[in-house]
Amino acid sequence: MRSLRPFIVLVFVFAFCFLNTCLSGQSAKLDRQVAVTIDDLPAGMADRLPAADITALTTKLLTTLRDQKVPVVGFVNEKKLYKPGEADERIKCLQLWLDYGFELGNHTFSHMSLNQNGLKAWEDDVIQGENVTRMLLAQKKMKLRYFRHPYLDTGRDLGTRREAERFLVERGYRVAPITLDGWDWMFAGLYEDAKKRNDAALQQQIVKEYLAYHDAVFAYTEQLSTKVVGYEPKQILLLHASNLEADHIGELLDVLRKRGYRFIPLEDALGDTAYSLPDTYVGEEGTGWIDHWAISQGKIPQGAPPFPQWVIDRTKELHLSTGQVSAQTPN
Ligand SMILES: [Zn+2]
Repeated sequence: MRSLRPFIVLVFVFAFCFLNTCLSGQSAKLDRQVAVTIDDLPAGMADRLPAADITALTTKLLTTLRDQKVPVVGFVNEKKLYKPGEADERIKCLQLWLDYGFELGNHTFSHMSLNQNGLKAWEDDVIQGENVTRMLLAQKKMKLRYFRHPYLDTGRDLGTRREAERFLVERGYRVAPITLDGWDWMFAGLYEDAKKRNDAALQQQIVKEYLAYHDAVFAYTEQLSTKVVGYEPKQILLLHASNLEADHIGELLDVLRKRGYRFIPLEDALGDTAYSLPDTYVGEEGTGWIDHWAISQGKIPQGAPPFPQWVIDRTKELHLSTGQVSAQTPN
């Protein structure tokens, strides 16, 4: 009779491999966490949208986020509140964020770049951006505690950067970094125009590209994270308040879920030790924090997925022909 030993060994090897695959797949899933942040409140295009439209998009966006139990911090530019005859309704849009159970942070009064302005003027803009938001938060017994740099511009030299950081800490802020950024505002401008013209085919094309590009950026950033940090830290996603997000954020959340992410509060994400890594990044252009850490280590991040050229081209065309949508819409 032939021995069964080789067969039994084979069974064990298969069982081990199978178990290993299951476990590693599962642990990779469990490890992925992301905090969602949304900038430029009450809306990125608040200058061009009537208050009623801003209320509608805010309600739609917040309903999805609340129903899906996704914690979010929204970052405000209070200058956008002061449109004659509309201030009350625009302030109510901010109030909605708190009523739905979300948190608000400061994104400066006028979306001012620290790289393009003097430190003193920028500090004044930070202070001016606190009034309404702080009052609304106080009514909910909450404190204004997060700050997000407009354009992610953290300063062109280290002296300015550190002074600005000291100023923010003195005023009770924690800087809210970002690690995942798919430039949704670029898609949002084009989408807004297509929506206005009832061009459903183009809207669909934009959404498809927006989802695919974000997926590619997530994959790229996960790999870069491992190279730079040594593991995938709790990520922080940057989005913007827009009709694109109001209509389609649910699909973007599904893209993240498929990659194994679960959604956590910003406070939890900031508890990751990655956010205390050495960061001496300075530059003309703002960028995400994985880039900051890479460049601080002397590594040059490479291989980022190229932003779809047709979206850039269409946005430029629109800007030239109608002046309705700017290619320079802020981060
Ligand atoms: Zn912004």
